[in-house]
Amino acid sequence: MSLNKKIEKIKDLIEGKLIYDYNLSKSSWFNIGGNAKIFFKPENIKELSLFIKTIANELPIYVIGRGSNLLIRDGGFDGAVIKLGKSFSHLSLFSENTLIAGASALDKTVSKFAYDNSISGFEFLSCIPGSIGGAIRMNSGCYKEDMSQKILSIQAMDINGIVTTIPSTKVNFFYRGCDLSEDLIFLSVTLKGNIKQKKEINEKMKKFINDKEKSQPNKIKTCGSTFKNPNEKNNKKAWELIKFAKCDNFKVGGAKISEQHCNFFLNDGSAKAKDLESLINKVKKEVFEKTGVNLEPELKIIGNE
Ligand SMILES: Cc1cc2nc3c(=O)[nH]c(=O)nc-3n(C[C@H](O)[C@H](O)[C@H](O)COP(=O)(O)OP(=O)(O)OC[C@H]3O[C@@H](n4cnc5c(N)ncnc54)[C@H](O)[C@@H]3O)c2cc1C
Repeated sequence: MSLNKKIEKIKDLIEGKLIYDYNLSKSSWFNIGGNAKIFFKPENIKELSLFIKTIANELPIYVIGRGSNLLIRDGGFDGAVIKLGKSFSHLSLFSENTLIAGASALDKTVSKFAYDNSISGFEFLSCIPGSIGGAIRMNSGCYKEDMSQKILSIQAMDINGIVTTIPSTKVNFFYRGCDLSEDLIFLSVTLKGNIKQKKEINEKMKKFINDKEKSQPNKIKTCGSTFKNPNEKNNKKAWELIKFAKCDNFKVGGAKISEQHCNFFLNDGSAKAKDLESLINKVKKEVFEKTGVNLEPELKIIGNE
C-alpha cells in the first residue's frame, strides 16, 4: 500500500492537524524555511504512536518545538515534521518540590508554574523562549543553570511508537546537548527544584529577565546564540572570538549579525536560509583563520538546500 493510502487510512482516527506540503517558515524564529512533506500536530500519545508506526519505515521524521533554535533550509524537509499539540503542554505537581511538564509547554510557563508553587530552580527558564522538549534536547540553560541539574526522568516515544521512561542517571548531558537518541520524541519530563519564598523566586526571575534584556537583542528574527562557546581550554566566548576576528559586521543577503550581540545572527526580513547558512560558514571560516578556534553551531540546521 502506498504511503498516502496508509495515511488516508489513519486520518479518521486522528484528531490533530495532519497537513501535506506544509510551509515551515512560521515554525522557526528566523521566519524562514521551505515545506515539510507532511506536518503532524498530534493531540494525544495514542495518535502519535499510530502515526509513527505508520510512517517510520517510509519517511524521515523530525520533531520540532518552538523553533527558537532551528534553521530550516529553503528546500524544506523531505519527510514528516512533528510538533506536539496543546495537550502535551500539561503541568502538574508530583510532590511538594517536584513537577511534571509536558514537552510542548513553554519554558517560561514552567518557570511561572514553579513560582506559583514556591519551587525555586526554574527561574532561568523564564528567559529562554523555547519549549521543554527543545530544552531537554539542547540541555538549555543560562546564568550557570541548565536542564541537566533539574531533570529526574524523561518520558519519550521511540521510533516504534513505544513510550519509555528514561532516568536522568542514564543520560549524558553536556553543554547544549545530550546523548539521547535523535529518534526519540520527548513527551514529558519530571523536574526537581527546592522550596523557597515566592518573593525570593520572583526577584531571581526578574533579575535574569532584566539582565537578558540588557545584554541580548529581542524582537528580532533570530535563534539566539548561533555558535556554542568553545570549551573551557579556550576562555574566550564565541562572541569575543567573532569580534576579535572582525566579522561582527559581516552580512550575506538579508542575513545579518546583531549590533547588540554578535553571536546573534538575524533575518532582516528578506533573508533566505541559504544567506544565514552562508553567513554562519563565512564567520566560522574567518574565526578559524584568525584564531585557530573551530566554532561549532549551537543552532540546528535541517532540510534540503
Ligand atoms: C532570543 C533567544 C534567546 C535564547 N536564549 C537562550 C539561552 O539563554 N539559553 C539556551 O540554552 N538557549 C537559548 N536560546 C535557544 C533556544 O531557545 C533553546 O535552544 C530552546 O530550548 C529550543 O527550544 P525549542 O522548543 O524552540 O526547540 P526547537 O528549536 O524547535 O528545536 C531544537 C532541538 O530540540 C529538538 N526538540 C524539540 N522538541 C522536541 C521533543 N519534544 N522531542 C525531541 N526533541 C525535541 C529538535 O528536534 C531540535 O533538535 C535562545 C533563543 C532565542 C531566539
